[in-house]
Order: sequence, then structure tokens, then C-alpha cells
Amino acid sequence: MSGWKGPLIWIATTAIFAGGAYLADKHIPGEHLPWKELDTSRPLGKATKSQILRLALSPPEVCMDLARDTDGFETIPAEPKSGPSSGDGKGVCGWDVARIVYGQDDIVLAPGEANMKCPLSVSTYLWTREIDRLAQDRYGEGLAKMHHMGTYSCRRQNGNNSGRWSQHAYGNAWDVASFELTDGHLVSVQSKWNSDDGDAEFLRDIRSAACKGFNVTLSPDYNRAHYDHFHVDMGPATACR
Ligand SMILES: [Zn+2]
Repeated sequence: MSGWKGPLIWIATTAIFAGGAYLADKHIPGEHLPWKELDTSRPLGKATKSQILRLALSPPEVCMDLARDTDGFETIPAEPKSGPSSGDGKGVCGWDVARIVYGQDDIVLAPGEANMKCPLSVSTYLWTREIDRLAQDRYGEGLAKMHHMGTYSCRRQNGNNSGRWSQHAYGNAWDVASFELTDGHLVSVQSKWNSDDGDAEFLRDIRSAACKGFNVTLSPDYNRAHYDHFHVDMGPATACR
């Protein structure tokens, strides 16, 4: 009696899931579907982070090709870099594969370009485009410049002498201080995070957008060390604060 029940339930369950996945594929945008490949023409979505994670776990050329082929993305491959050696003679800092990011479309980085691990650069591309959209919505002006404090720095977390290495040590983290719009309006984390105008809301929207694309997003809400910038990274931890 129960002999055929198991397989039947299994077939019914599989059919329901397959049907569900088919319908989702047809009706839900790809940025919300974790099994879809990352499409950089799509906005940040519920599944963007897991799609980027999958990209990070693929052979490096998959991400490098995607970044190269992404519309308006001003970026070229970076030379490999190895940082100073640790006691056992092994270089702990640097990267094998990374990109030099200059900006995208009409948006530039100041004071200049940034070296980023490839998945970080792709998240940056998506985030920057979202900030541009948020600026258009709120101010009727686009984003013109991202003022940043750099990516690579061969150091441990929180400037400690021991313990874990910072994602900055691998070019896998980025610190951004302020956002300049096409009319010259400057929204800085340091001076606007606690303001009581739309700029503070704009910064919170920017942080929310970052949390969709980066594994770690840290703002002034996290600790005093972040009073003047957003830290974003694609390391193994997750945080959105
Ligand atoms: Zn940082």
C-alpha cells in the first residue's frame, strides 16, 4: 500500500518545485533569483549578493570578462601585487587578479582610481549606478564624483598588530567619504550623517543600497572609526550597519 506513495509524493514535489522555478524565471526579475547569473544591466536586487558570491567562487576570468564587457564601466585589469612578506616569508597582502577602476559613464573617482578585486569592482559598479539613480530621484541631479579613501592597505583589522587581516590588505575593501552631484552639491558622511535634512536620508539610502551588493557595509552607526566614511567589502563576513 505504501510502496508507491513515496515515489508519487517525490514526483509531485519535484513537479511543484520545477513549476515554481519556471514561473519565477518568467515573472520575477533576474536580480531577485539566486540561481540566475549576475546581469550587470539589472539593478541591485534580493539575489545580487549571492550572484556576486557565485561569481567570486568561479575562475577569475569569469568576473574579469564580465567587468570588461559591462556597459560604461571604466576599468582595466591591474597588475598582480604582492605585499610585504610576513615572518615565514609568505606575502600576506596584495592580489593575483584585480581591476583598476576609474569610474563609469560620467562618474569619476576622486582623488583618483582604485584597485579592487574583481567581484568588489562589480559590486561597486552596481552600487554607483544605484547612487546615481537615488541622486536623480531626490535632487534631480546625477552623481558626478565619488570621493574615496582608497582600497588597498596592507594592515590588520582595526589597525591591530595581531589578529585578522583587513580586507583592505587584499584590495577587497573600499572606503568612501562623500558623494558629489552634477551641480557641485557635496554630501559627505562626516558632515551630513547627523544632519536633519534630505542629505542624511540620501546617505541612509546609499547605505541600504550598499547592503544589497556588498557582504559588509559599515557606516557611522557601526563605530566611531567610521564617523567619516562608509566601508564596504567582499570578505567572508556579513554586516550591514
Ligand atoms: Zn575600510
